[in-house]
Amino acid sequence: MPEKSKDKRAIEKYARDRGRILLITDEPAPIETQALEALGLDIVGVAGGASAMISLQRSRPHVVIASTAAEKVSAGELVRMLGQSQDRIPLVLIGTEAATVERRYSALWLGACDYFQMPAELPLLLERSKQLVAQAQTMERLRAEADLDSLTGLANRRRFRVALNRELERWRRYGVPCALLLLDIDYMKGINDAHGHTAGDAVIRRIADTLMEASRDNDTAARVGGEEFALLLAGVPGEKAQVAAERLRTIISELPVEGVGMVTVSIGVAVCPAHANSERTLYAASDGALYVAKNEGRNRVAVAPLLQGTLPGV
Ligand code: GH3
Ligand code: MG
Ligand code: MG
Repeated sequence: MPEKSKDKRAIEKYARDRGRILLITDEPAPIETQALEALGLDIVGVAGGASAMISLQRSRPHVVIASTAAEKVSAGELVRMLGQSQDRIPLVLIGTEAATVERRYSALWLGACDYFQMPAELPLLLERSKQLVAQAQTMERLRAEADLDSLTGLANRRRFRVALNRELERWRRYGVPCALLLLDIDYMKGINDAHGHTAGDAVIRRIADTLMEASRDNDTAARVGGEEFALLLAGVPGEKAQVAAERLRTIISELPVEGVGMVTVSIGVAVCPAHANSERTLYAASDGALYVAKNEGRNRVAVAPLLQGTLPGV
């Protein structure tokens, strides 16, 4: 059995993950802690003052519960910070004052989810926290799934684009190279015609599994078209990329697919900065090389031409 994709593993992890709550209060041992933990929720931090903001960034909570009595942390400022985060983490306010309509209204008006009086309304706080954690976890899972190709479990085109931007940004900022391999299955139409579309899909999945096994943690293996794939290798310079592509081509060509037989791929290789230095030109250079590999007979690797003034192997 091939290894599960990193992304599928990530989704399963979300499903198993316990809810994470950050408590923002100046009290050293708030009563809410024990009650929330008894529900199976993890308290990822109890912080007040300046350390509250640091905990917020570090602990990636699903829900933030903040005491209105916490000094140096205003509810308005918290709402602004949470709203700016990509996850839009929900905030619940608590305090010792009565939960009058006015107080709840002003909490909602600020952008918090509610206000509860402690300790009288602790049961309400617990129920609301459970609901909000469940919503945040669903959102987390959907977000992870939205980036996956459903047939193969590889990154989809959208996620690939994000990864390509990230790697090129790393090049621009820190001078870290990266390599882009574009793969296209040879004679895929013939495979479908001879063995049927389902067998064709099995071929696509097999290539995807091989790509996933070949990629390391910081690499991105993606399905970017019907029977076209990309492997973005982080921190890999010129010659290493060619060696990686050749190894991949060999592995695929030597492993028959059940019910289909031997399958081969053609691979285009381009490296930043040797062959291109932007997202668009790197993709175009790798695609151009793939075109050459096809034209030269398929089941082969072709490397993009060097940019002028670049030394080989950079
Ligand atoms: P070449 O060697 O030039 O790449 O030839 P090819 O037949 O593979 O041509 P091309 O790359 O244009 O392949 C497109 C074919 O891939 C046609 C289409 O039926 C098949 N295909 C695309 N997506 C899928 C898919 O999801 N499943 C299956 N089974 N086939 C697909
Ligand atoms: Mg194609
Ligand atoms: Mg093809």
